[in-house]
Amino acid sequence: MLQQPILPEHGLFIDGAYVPATSGRTFQKISPVSGRVIATVHEAGRDDVDRAVRAAKAALSGPWGKMSVAERAGLLQDLSQAINARFDDFLEAEIADTGKPRSLARLVDIPRGGANFATFADMIKNLGAEFFETATPDGGRAINYGVHRPKGVIAVISPWNLPLLLMTWKVGPALACGNTVVVKPSEITPHTATLLGEVMNAVGIPKGVYNVIHGFGPNSAGEFLTQHPLVDGITFTGETRTGEAIMKQAAIGLRDISFELGGKNAAIVFADADLDKAVAGTMQSVFSNCGQVCLGTERVYVERPVYEEFVSRLKGAAEGLVLGGPDTQGVSMGPLVSEEHRDKVLSYYRLAEEEGATVVTGGGVPQFGDERDGGFFIQPTIWTDLADTSPIIREEIFGPCCHIRPFDSEEEVIALANDSDYGLCSAIWTENLSRAHRVAPQIEVGLVWVNSWFLRDLRTAFGGSKKSGIGREGGEHSLEFYTERANICVKL
Ligand code: NAD
Repeated sequence: MLQQPILPEHGLFIDGAYVPATSGRTFQKISPVSGRVIATVHEAGRDDVDRAVRAAKAALSGPWGKMSVAERAGLLQDLSQAINARFDDFLEAEIADTGKPRSLARLVDIPRGGANFATFADMIKNLGAEFFETATPDGGRAINYGVHRPKGVIAVISPWNLPLLLMTWKVGPALACGNTVVVKPSEITPHTATLLGEVMNAVGIPKGVYNVIHGFGPNSAGEFLTQHPLVDGITFTGETRTGEAIMKQAAIGLRDISFELGGKNAAIVFADADLDKAVAGTMQSVFSNCGQVCLGTERVYVERPVYEEFVSRLKGAAEGLVLGGPDTQGVSMGPLVSEEHRDKVLSYYRLAEEEGATVVTGGGVPQFGDERDGGFFIQPTIWTDLADTSPIIREEIFGPCCHIRPFDSEEEVIALANDSDYGLCSAIWTENLSRAHRVAPQIEVGLVWVNSWFLRDLRTAFGGSKKSGIGREGGEHSLEFYTERANICVKL
């Protein structure tokens, strides 16, 4: 049996035990900070995936399936506390995978890991049911009431940018609703999903309820999992193109899907905004997590009277960012997650210049003269003066960069913000309350923030319109996806 947590070797977690992959294949996990190999990960083959799914299926009719809602919710509260008790282990695992600043993972990623279980444990206890009394043709009465059954085996496919947060955002409600899961974390960030298996065992979650398989997407663990006939629902967070591939795979056997996909999010800064707050908030939304946040801003529209000042202040703030590893003194921005991803972001940096952008700041790779030069760091970058048709304005880059463009009227900026294939989120900066309420509902996205960004209440709907997603999760929306409703009609 392979052991945990930040280990040089990762097995799969199937039926409550760490096991090697029978495929005989492994792949390497590279540190984003140094470019060095830090772990060898077992790649699940089709047989391994089959074992994991069958373990999840069997667990549905074991002790887990027989538990009362209160017992299940209690176990998930224990799990939340156990994650918090092992906070430092999760922190180490997360920063080993992503290279993000320790302070960021401490503030956002790890607390949300625990909260995702506690929140849905609370919610499931309060889940009510609809009830109708019905007149029957013979002059009698019937009652109708709804019940929520677990959907079954849920495939959870998660990305690398917020690995623990986004994986538990799906596993939390899935388990609260009584399902079992097979998780396929990103091949780039295998640590925290693996570690979570140990904590599941420690708190007494029955074996087979939570399983982890490692590997890639096409012709690997991701594809094998989403094609498996015993999988009842697929919840996926990742790129829009991957969502298209998974949707085809989900069509076989007609499995339900929930998709949280890419974004090309706009921030709108009106001239009446509090510019201190708008600059600080936009810094956060563009550069947090090195720009690798689906909710991040890559398009900034600024009303003309404050345009020059805003550009100059954002430039100054971006040039003040401190790049470094998780524990670099004063670090505010870590590396991109992989060499491949940095190559992709750099290709957009080059394209912006070819398209005639004014490079306000950044545009390349920083040189440190130390170990960090082996890592995947990139300069925070701001452009202006690109055409609205440029790929820089239209495609998701997923790096620490944005384009700023002036606008002259409310109607113009609403049209600009909506001129996108994506519809995930938007941030509006204004001190005019009427304007905020007038503009916010007109932006074609799933989430709008006014004078803030990334403020989340887990009971609210989360998801995107257009190419940014299918369905909503969060609060009752998660409970809806992770359950099957049945109506019971009783003639009295
Ligand atoms: P990705 O789509 O490349 O990979 C996500 C996961 O899908 C990985 O586990 C990968 O192995 C798996 N996968 C890839 N191809 C597959 C296939 N054919 N079948 C099954 N699984 C497959 O995404 P990424 O690069 O890891 O993450 C970045 C993307 O995620 C960005 O586009 C970002 O906007 C998006 N994202 C969206 C949200 C949201 O809530 N809307 C949140 C975070 C990230």
